[in-house]
Amino acid sequence: MSDPRDLEEAGFREALIDLDAITSNVRVLRELTGTEHFIAVVKANGYGHGAVQTARAALAGGADWLGVAAIEEALELRAAGIDAPIVAWLHDPGETFDEAISAEVSIGVSTLPQLRAVADAAVRGPVQASVQFKLDTGLSRNGLPRADWREAFELAAAFEQTAQVRVDGVFTHLSNATLQDDVDCLDLFDEGVAAAREAGLAPGLVHAAASAAALRQPDARYNCVRIGLAIYGLAPTQEVARARELGLRPAMTLRGRLANVKRVPAGTSVSYDYTYTTERETTLALVPFGYGDGIARAASGRGPVWAAGGVHRIAGRVAMDQFVVDVGDVPAAVGDPVVLFGDGRQGFPTAEDWAEASDTINWEIVTRVGGRTKRRYVGDLADD
Ligand SMILES: *Cc1c(COP(=O)(O)O)cnc(C)c1O
Repeated sequence: MSDPRDLEEAGFREALIDLDAITSNVRVLRELTGTEHFIAVVKANGYGHGAVQTARAALAGGADWLGVAAIEEALELRAAGIDAPIVAWLHDPGETFDEAISAEVSIGVSTLPQLRAVADAAVRGPVQASVQFKLDTGLSRNGLPRADWREAFELAAAFEQTAQVRVDGVFTHLSNATLQDDVDCLDLFDEGVAAAREAGLAPGLVHAAASAAALRQPDARYNCVRIGLAIYGLAPTQEVARARELGLRPAMTLRGRLANVKRVPAGTSVSYDYTYTTERETTLALVPFGYGDGIARAASGRGPVWAAGGVHRIAGRVAMDQFVVDVGDVPAAVGDPVVLFGDGRQGFPTAEDWAEASDTINWEIVTRVGGRTKRRYVGDLADD
């Protein structure tokens, strides 16, 4: 049987997702962190890799929890038959939490009104609500402000007595600005966890570390880590070398097929605004990915692409559906496979290369792959 990993098998516009890589990455990270619990973060369609498939692969690697931003994302996992514990932490202000509670989704609570709404919903239904407090320790984003901690913990302790509410966790999210900034946040977090315990709560999960801190800051691991990026085999810039040493493998290969190829003379200008002009006779190859598929227009003239046996830069502007590469005198034909990014060890450009070429971070590169790009799965858990 043919191996879909083989480039000759590439579809016209596809993201090949190696689920074995995700399983193996989770195993590696679990071993590294040694924490009792491991939350695999599969929000935003599993960072573009497919939430359900990623969740299954991560659970197979030893994750015992899943993390998402939106309750809808948690319900999608439930609908697919995934019954592992899930925590969701970013809510519509009008959210009633009824569905989340009946689907046994643990609710990340960042405001007092959310806590009250959860308690109200819990008394309406037969299922006890699980709450995890998300504490703001410096990021100033989502998260309960310090001024509300005491009130929230005391209220929750009261709800634990009278309503069907259980506080299962306390967590925070770090800025990764500097190591010292993160240490300051963790000091504050420790205070928050202590205050929760003083109020009579007994959170079973205490978590702060996402990929960056999990990789570089053992103090941030507590009894649980909450990892997204690294399970997909990517790492924050400063940790890329370490990720490679650990054996993390990028799970996504973005690839396609040349849609058009033409031999052109010197002085031929390319794509909108003619920002690129050939210096000599050369071959132009058309790649069927554009900003409609998540390719940043900012990568115009810069994004690297493997085509015709080597890596070439985008020639001229990225358009909505397509861009051009100048492959020189290398033979190229319509239908030849191209790889935008994948595993650097296989000679392909990486998501980090694309992040640099697009003035962004690798999180965004994989997450925004979308639109018309088909996902194709390989690995033990792939069912196609
Ligand atoms: C997205 C997110 C994570 C995962 O972060 P990575 O850096 O991708 O590991 C963890 N926690 C929270 C609260 C998040 O929003």
